[in-house]
Amino acid sequence: MIKKERMKNRNDINMLITYECHSGNFVCANASGEEFLEVIKEQFKEKLDELSLSNTPQVEFIECILPNSKQTDKWYRIGFVCAIPGEIIHITITDIDKDVEESCYKEHVSSYDKLTGLLHKDAFVREVEKNILNNGRKVDAGEYALIYFDIIRFKAINDMFGMAEGDQLLKYIAGILTQITKTGSVLARLDADRFLIFTHHVGNELDQFVESLIDAVTQYKLPFKVSCNVGIYVTNEALLTVDAMIDRAVLAQSAIKGSYTSKYNYYKESMRKDMLGEQEISGIMGKAMEEEQFVLLYQPQYNHATGTLVGAEALVRWVHPKKGIISPGIFIPIFEKNGFITKLDLYVFEQVCCFIRRCMDEELPIVPVSSNFSRHDIFMPDFVSKLEEIRKRYDVPTKYLRIEITESVAVGGSQHTNEIIRNLHKCGYIVEMDDFGSGYSSLNVLKDIELDIIKLDMMFLSTDSGTGKGGTILSSMVRMAKWLGMPVIAEGVERIEQADFLRSIGCDYIQGYLYSRPLPEDEYVELLTKSTININAPHLDLNDKLNVSSFWDPKSQETLIFSNYVGGAAIFEYQNENVEILRVNKRYLQELGVNLTEKDLIKSDPMRFFDETNRLIYIDMLKRAIESGEEEECETWRNIGLLSSSEERFCIRSNVRMIGKSNGSYLFYATIRNVTPEKEAYLKMLNSEKRFKMASEQAKIYYWEYDVATKEMHPCFRCMRDWGLPQVLFNYPESVIEMGIIPQETAPMYRDWHTQIDNGVKELEVVMPLTASNIPFRVRYTTEFDENGNPVKAYGSAALVVE
Ligand code: C2E
Ligand code: CA
Ligand code: CA
Repeated sequence: MIKKERMKNRNDINMLITYECHSGNFVCANASGEEFLEVIKEQFKEKLDELSLSNTPQVEFIECILPNSKQTDKWYRIGFVCAIPGEIIHITITDIDKDVEESCYKEHVSSYDKLTGLLHKDAFVREVEKNILNNGRKVDAGEYALIYFDIIRFKAINDMFGMAEGDQLLKYIAGILTQITKTGSVLARLDADRFLIFTHHVGNELDQFVESLIDAVTQYKLPFKVSCNVGIYVTNEALLTVDAMIDRAVLAQSAIKGSYTSKYNYYKESMRKDMLGEQEISGIMGKAMEEEQFVLLYQPQYNHATGTLVGAEALVRWVHPKKGIISPGIFIPIFEKNGFITKLDLYVFEQVCCFIRRCMDEELPIVPVSSNFSRHDIFMPDFVSKLEEIRKRYDVPTKYLRIEITESVAVGGSQHTNEIIRNLHKCGYIVEMDDFGSGYSSLNVLKDIELDIIKLDMMFLSTDSGTGKGGTILSSMVRMAKWLGMPVIAEGVERIEQADFLRSIGCDYIQGYLYSRPLPEDEYVELLTKSTININAPHLDLNDKLNVSSFWDPKSQETLIFSNYVGGAAIFEYQNENVEILRVNKRYLQELGVNLTEKDLIKSDPMRFFDETNRLIYIDMLKRAIESGEEEECETWRNIGLLSSSEERFCIRSNVRMIGKSNGSYLFYATIRNVTPEKEAYLKMLNSEKRFKMASEQAKIYYWEYDVATKEMHPCFRCMRDWGLPQVLFNYPESVIEMGIIPQETAPMYRDWHTQIDNGVKELEVVMPLTASNIPFRVRYTTEFDENGNPVKAYGSAALVVE
């Protein structure tokens, strides 16, 4: 009975056939399967032809009834796994035995992941516990292995190439697993990009299996480096639950997570002991800092076109007296968790200032040095003033100091980040975005955050094939960065071909092992003294090397980025006050909210949508942008109704930047946002305010707003004029009581009113003398509440009581 159930619940592959696209030949891996060969040839010819033509990896599952040798119809799941496009398609056939026991089939369906056809986690655990471990059978040491893996930066793949591509990759991996695991293995997708395998591959064979798995994953053709990190738990005599085995495999994997160099890791008992490492690190970090165990290395940055040294990045190492050198990859994540990171980063920054001071005192050549700052640091309220305090202590000019932050600072809104960056700019710092291309966000971040330089990490892009697809995405990233007006430093450059290629696409600034590893201070000083240096910040020659031709190619990577990365965007040409749209993306149309195609919009004259005033506003912005070479912004109303059936007017906020020019014609990159709802709400408010003002003027009403949280009071014009109030009063009502505007005898009651408002009273009204001259007023308050019922504001008014 158990055996029969196992047949049904597990994906036992009955047959594996390989189809060679070029020759049209079929090769059967197991003899038992030959009975299906003719049926496959006949029923799935079209499918195979279609898959043969595809130039991307594909995986498809079809469930259908096939006749078998006993001439009984049964349900089978057929998988087509096209791993190497245009060459080989693997066909797997799995018995899902549908007609024998319908209920069993239903259970089967609910146990399986729709996307990949693998088991869900619960079903996986059930399956292994019940059918392999026989509900508690003691397994022999080394008898089985539980393997866990996930894809490195899968989120980035989804972000860059879309969910559909991500799904395709997951299906591809499922296909590989079904192909390369031994019959009898249990496979599952835990969630997202996380997979589990329970198998009896052991010893060397297990190594080989894991290597072939990783190899197959990296074969997946994408410009992004696709790889995985694998954790392996090998069973020992101790009886563990499947969940505990999963935990151990995950733990083994977490030690190498994110690394492109160590790809798999076996679980060892010591790892659980090492978990204490985190607490241990937290225990000794303070002392380590006192004892100056944190040491800086400097990694030089070069201009590859001229060979000059242009800057350096400070990278920290922990030199522990017993444990030796600990790399930042280990302690930085722990410091980020426990908050010590800020202390460390400020320490590093101070060391950098101290080093530059040394260069200045000893009259050594100086180039700017970047320091890394974590997301936690820059959200500290006095971040900029702390930096300034340190910098001034060493009396170092800001032009020698650069600030590196990562894309993750944009998470949760860019407004605050921009405020900090603006403050840094005010002090003269250059701000760099680190690890661009790691995919935590996208080019959108560049649009929203006012950064100076992008650091593009080569580790995240597969450029092994030189100028292949990986090269294309790199060059389009560099080009897009140019459109947004930002110079790029490529880091992690290891080979001369990479550097030459980067140079050919207009990225001259390079940091990486090719030029130098991070160096101790003295070696770096030695290098400085022998190098030609240039302290000017990496800059961008706006119209230089701007090749927009690939932009018009609908298959190019630029198109992909243009359509997926940025919000509503357009490219247009401007000449003699005429605008011709050359290209818009889907989101541009979405922002306009009209039912138009890209073609319709391109064909029409965009200037038709403007009335004269708005047209002048827009043209003025373009002229400003030509003059400044910077990004410029304006808001204009447009009557899109001309094109669609609606009569609506839209208010569009446009940001433009000139990206090329020739003979009086200018090429522009524009992003737009439909701000109509905001504008309308504002106009409405303005109107009602106007009406209210007029009414109050006539009715001799005074009015003001009281803010519960800040205790600020904003008076109307009349209050200011007649009572001499400033525009804002703080600490209300104490401030007016102090000023003597409220008579002493009314003060306690008026104070009490505000306590009542703070406590949530809805309305208050009384006649009272409000000013020193004791003239009676009818004073009224109405409170406004937020969605949780907490008081937010109270609107006060006072009208003269006419007797
Ligand atoms: P990162 O800021 O992206 O630094 C670049 C890393 O790439 C450094 O690793 C550097 O040694 C390495 N690298 C440079 N050129 C190459 C190359 O050609 N090939 C390869 N394979 N690697 C190269 P490192 O020093 O281990 O630092 C790792 C990360 O630790 C840094 O990545 C940064 O995120 C963090 N980190 C280092 N120092 C600090 C610090 O003072 N504060 C903060 N918050 N983070 C730091
Ligand atoms: Ca960095
Ligand atoms: Ca980096």
